[in-house]
Amino acid sequence: MLKRNRSLLDIDRDHLIHPVTSFRGHEARGATLLQSGKGMFLTDVDGKELIDAFAGLWCVNVGYGQDSIVEVAAEQMRRLPYATGYFHFGSEPAVKLAEKLVELSPANLTRVYFTLGGSDAVDSAVRYIIHYFNAIGKPAKKHFIALERGYHGSSTVGSGLTALGNFHRFFDVPRPWQHHIPSPYPYRSPVGGDAQAVIDLSVAQLRAKVAELGADNVAAFFCEPIQGSGGVVVPPKGWLKAMREACRELDILFIADEVITGFGRTGPMFACDHEGVQPDLMTVAKGLTAGYAPMGAVLMSEQIFKGIADGASPDLPIGHGFTYSGHPVSAAVGLEVMRLYTEGGILANGQKVGADFAAGLASLADHPLVGETRGQGLLGAIELVADKQSKARFDNGLKLPDRLFAKAYANGVIFRAFADGIIGLAPALCCNADEMSLIFNRIRQTLDQLLEEPDIRAALR
Ligand code: PLP
Repeated sequence: MLKRNRSLLDIDRDHLIHPVTSFRGHEARGATLLQSGKGMFLTDVDGKELIDAFAGLWCVNVGYGQDSIVEVAAEQMRRLPYATGYFHFGSEPAVKLAEKLVELSPANLTRVYFTLGGSDAVDSAVRYIIHYFNAIGKPAKKHFIALERGYHGSSTVGSGLTALGNFHRFFDVPRPWQHHIPSPYPYRSPVGGDAQAVIDLSVAQLRAKVAELGADNVAAFFCEPIQGSGGVVVPPKGWLKAMREACRELDILFIADEVITGFGRTGPMFACDHEGVQPDLMTVAKGLTAGYAPMGAVLMSEQIFKGIADGASPDLPIGHGFTYSGHPVSAAVGLEVMRLYTEGGILANGQKVGADFAAGLASLADHPLVGETRGQGLLGAIELVADKQSKARFDNGLKLPDRLFAKAYANGVIFRAFADGIIGLAPALCCNADEMSLIFNRIRQTLDQLLEEPDIRAALR
């Protein structure tokens, strides 16, 4: 039983399990409790104000405190807080949001299944793909290929498509039918930074993996157009299209996981739009509701839908569903968020301020700690190295991510500090030029302070 008057921090330590933390590490460190948000800024429980350069978890694309979203959510809750999609029921917001997503996404995507977030969107996509190949009489097509450094959520199935060690260790994934090919990582590519060489290598690696497994056994290739949680790895322009085309030739499905890159994060509405790519399926979440309510979706081509629809008896349901699929409050929020992106001008603002973001990243490229900066739209990374020549990373023992995060926090900026010394940035699309300067001033201040620390200085080669 909870004792009275204990601090929230103690209660948190004793009872709340946080995502992707060391359980004991969290007990020792304690939580950082946030209190409120407005625009680009967050305030913690101690009243400290911070600029959020990571949009929560790359999701609050419209910024905090958008009253129009609060109003539609409250109105929907009052009118109809829940409507199931089971038994042929539905609700107006879910239907309208499906229509809107079909209108905004690549032209071949015509069908939408709503989930609660990104992990279950990936999980749903895998289930539908397996069902599809069984339904069209190709039951051997069961193997899935994804990229090293990729992140596709942490469901039982998706965590095996993910290729980050922490998501595999002690979880018994990847499964034998889940495979990975190297990441198209120009900064660390064995063929150097030449764009065409990186693309050719990636296509060759996909072909080789499919040949090894046998094309008749391979169902699909999953990728993020820009790898987010793997350290914001930006492939060369043309890579996505080349991989899409290779999948077509190899007769395997191509799935774009746009959970981070969707909804203006890289400039256009979807990252696929940069290269006119039409995936067989697309997974989305995060920016769909800008984090104001949980929701994700699988967008499906007519071909896949038809295969599933016509492969089963009309009397038999396709057994995939969630209680909260198409939740009316989340859908109403999603519709308002779409309005803010388009009529509200937030997508256009993101594209405009993208130039300031790129300039901010470039201004840090020659900092003594920085090996490379990279980005597209409002998604970017600063990769720290101990040796610019060899690109050697800092030793893990220096605990760079924790120190970076703590200093940045003290300086009033929040970003993602990845395990391998990469800083991830994803400011909201409503950011203005002054706020962008503030972000980069505070990051520079943080890097300068880190450089002053004797052990970091000593580690520099
Ligand atoms: N796919 C990608 C590309 C992601 O970046 C994420 C989350 O960061 C997911 C899937 C999982 O989404 P969620 O955390 O909403 O389950």
